[in-house]
Amino acid sequence: MLGADDSGKNRASMTAKPPTALRLWPIAALCLAVLAGLGWGVHEQTRARAFAELHERGQNTLNLAESSLRGQLARFERLPGLLADERVIRSLLLSPRNSDLIMAANFYLRETAELLGASDLYVMYSDGETLAASNFDQPHSFVGGNFAFRPYFFDAMETGEGRFFALGTTSNKRGYYFGAPIDVAGQRRGVIVLKIDVDEIEQAWASEEVRILVTDPEQIIFLSNRPDWLFHSFGPLTPDQRDRTQATRRYANASLGVLDYRAAQDRHGFDLMFGPGNAVDASEYLVVQSAMPDAEWTVQVLLPTRAARGQAASAVGMALLGLGICALAGLVLWQRRRQLAVRLALQQAAKDDLERRVVERTQQLRSANAALRDEVSERRAAEAQLRQTQSELVQAGKLAALGQMSAALSHEFNQPLGAARNYAENAQVLLDRGRITEARGNIDRIIGMIDRMTRISRHLRNFARKPNQQLRAVALADSVIAAQELLDWRLAKQGVTLAVDMGPVPPIVIAGPVRLQQVLVNLISNAIDAVEECPDKRLELRATQSGASVRVTLRDHGPGVPDALQARIFDPFFSTKEVGKGLGLGLGLSISYNILRDFGGELMVRNHPDGGAEFTLVLQAADSLSAAAE
Ligand code: ADP
Repeated sequence: MLGADDSGKNRASMTAKPPTALRLWPIAALCLAVLAGLGWGVHEQTRARAFAELHERGQNTLNLAESSLRGQLARFERLPGLLADERVIRSLLLSPRNSDLIMAANFYLRETAELLGASDLYVMYSDGETLAASNFDQPHSFVGGNFAFRPYFFDAMETGEGRFFALGTTSNKRGYYFGAPIDVAGQRRGVIVLKIDVDEIEQAWASEEVRILVTDPEQIIFLSNRPDWLFHSFGPLTPDQRDRTQATRRYANASLGVLDYRAAQDRHGFDLMFGPGNAVDASEYLVVQSAMPDAEWTVQVLLPTRAARGQAASAVGMALLGLGICALAGLVLWQRRRQLAVRLALQQAAKDDLERRVVERTQQLRSANAALRDEVSERRAAEAQLRQTQSELVQAGKLAALGQMSAALSHEFNQPLGAARNYAENAQVLLDRGRITEARGNIDRIIGMIDRMTRISRHLRNFARKPNQQLRAVALADSVIAAQELLDWRLAKQGVTLAVDMGPVPPIVIAGPVRLQQVLVNLISNAIDAVEECPDKRLELRATQSGASVRVTLRDHGPGVPDALQARIFDPFFSTKEVGKGLGLGLGLSISYNILRDFGGELMVRNHPDGGAEFTLVLQAADSLSAAAE
């Protein structure tokens, strides 16, 4: 029942619990998600901080660039107005074709331009024609050139102030133009223009890392600390923008490019720019810009974000590394704690086990002590019992010996008495019939038996006096004949024949002659009983000598002794014969057995292979004794 329950439980647990790998999946996924979230958070934080720093740097750069630009422009913006009041200039505009005045103005302008550090300085007539210029003696002289299309001219003529940035149509050099009207005698007669070189400004911005750009109102880059993006617009120009640029010939004959870029704003509000180009790995810039409304310019500082992003990535790496180290340290700590716990549990278990064993052992010792005490008292009781039994046995033994003796006596006397009675009865009959001789023979036999009984009683007397009667050499044949004589009447009565074979030399044995005869009578008498109801009534007595021992076998053709009884037939009082029939006391064989032992011999029984019992007496040959004596 228990086994069935267990297997059922196992099955249930197997179906309920998924395999370990499957159970670990959600945990692993959760850990990954947490790690990813953490990584993302750290990345965003660090990037935002790095971008903020970058932005601040950009802002500083922008401020510097803008102020240098403003400073440069501020330095020159008032000068054209002052120069317009100069007498030489005014005189020239009153007589524009006067070559002396033109020359004087040329020299004046050249000197003043050099003095001021201006790129060019020139005077335009009201129709836009250049009358005199500081570069009058240069190959690309402005003199004679008409720049009426330039805003610095018409703005100055109309509003009293003209400013413009452009690529020089004659000089092909970028410059900033300041125009101021020349009023003579209340009439606006022309414009004086001062052009400054912007190359110096750009040179002051030189930086390998940061891009500083200035764009015009059409989003075309005209100032840059790097030449590659110059004259490029952020995105293609609209037709309007193109028309406006064409009208003022701002970029003269220079070809305009388009910058392929993408602008974006990140989640923290930083302006970003990707480009040029649409490639995935296109450079990314953080954009900081500011407008200069009076010049309609926009100054932009572009800062590459690569380093900031790298910083964010390495922060993520560091964070993950830190986390990894912490996790590893935690794992090691946990492992050690677990090992400690396991060790403590093992120690506790060992201690518990020891205590339990001590308790068990103590219990065992206690019960062993109790058992020992019980055993001691049992032993004592047993000893007392033994003593009691021993004394009882001694008593019983005495009684048994007495009984055995009485039985033996009655047995030994009953036989000759029975025979004597028969012979006496016969003698009476013979006397009645006058057969005196035969009667005498019977009486002689009776006398012989009485002699035998006398010998027995003497033997008993001797036995009483001296238990170990002297053994001597006895002719086996004499004992056999005497026994045969005693039993003759029974043999004859029951038709039993006794064949005797003493061998070539009748053996002489060591025995007491009466007791040997007694044994033979017992054995032959039993054999007669055994063959009583059998058809084959032959008895065979055979004696053989081999060396120092003589074997006498008596074989009958009766039923034999059952195997189960063979060990018991030598016990005193063992008998299978009915009470009243014959003697049936069960003492014959036991007495015979003891007599043989007294002779230093043996008495054995077996069933003959061809049927019938076979008793064997083993006796010592008298020769060996006399030989030993010699
Ligand atoms: P008893 O003759 O008074 O019975 P014994 O001691 O002489 O006592 O014999 C014991 C038993 O041995 C007999 O009762 C008989 O059963 C068995 N016995 C003895 N001799 C023979 C024999 N020759 N064949 C078969 N049984 C025998």
